[in-house]
Amino acid sequence: MNLIIFGPPGAGKGTQADFIVNKYDLYQLSTGEVLRNEIKNKTDLGNEISSIINSGSLVSDNIVKKLVEIFISDKRYKDRLIFDGYPRNLIQAETLQELLNKYGQKIDLVLKLSVSLETIKKRILERSTLEKRADDSEQIAIKRYKTYEKSTEPVIEYYKKLNLLKVIDGERPIELINKEISDIISLI
Ligand code: AMP
Repeated sequence: MNLIIFGPPGAGKGTQADFIVNKYDLYQLSTGEVLRNEIKNKTDLGNEISSIINSGSLVSDNIVKKLVEIFISDKRYKDRLIFDGYPRNLIQAETLQELLNKYGQKIDLVLKLSVSLETIKKRILERSTLEKRADDSEQIAIKRYKTYEKSTEPVIEYYKKLNLLKVIDGERPIELINKEISDIISLI
């Protein structure tokens, strides 16, 4: 089983991804993490992309494709990938289909953790009651949330049309979300 997980910053995506990885023995492929490791290890690629990542822009689709192919083509990860932070746009979504096809695999499920902006704001305020800059962090969080929603919208639509999308209400207690995800996975 290969799956993709989407969720805005602060939605608890990391927690749910960890749960799925452990329960189903999957491998979490976070493109952001792979890219950050390249920078940390000072590889040629890392040196090439460090300024792009640091400025908050997206790395080119071609670079990401090469990195993702390394994992998809690796037998150890065959049919056990959970994609996180990828695909980020329609071109990447189409590339992913193409790569999976090439290695005899497919996406079985796309999960979107859905949390309202109000809840994200509340979570930030709870976390930052002891900090003076609560206002600043709230503004940044709102901006990141909106950017995220806007940029992933076409990709989410793409998977919806393919009938692969399940939207999960991320406002509930963690255990209930875990259970819903397990129930969905048991049906595929
Ligand atoms: P993330 O940890 O997913 O927020 O990613 C951190 C940074 O890595 C992003 O701001 C981008 O610069 C880069 N990145 C991660 N995933 C992708 C992707 N799928 N396509 C392009 N750039 C990416």
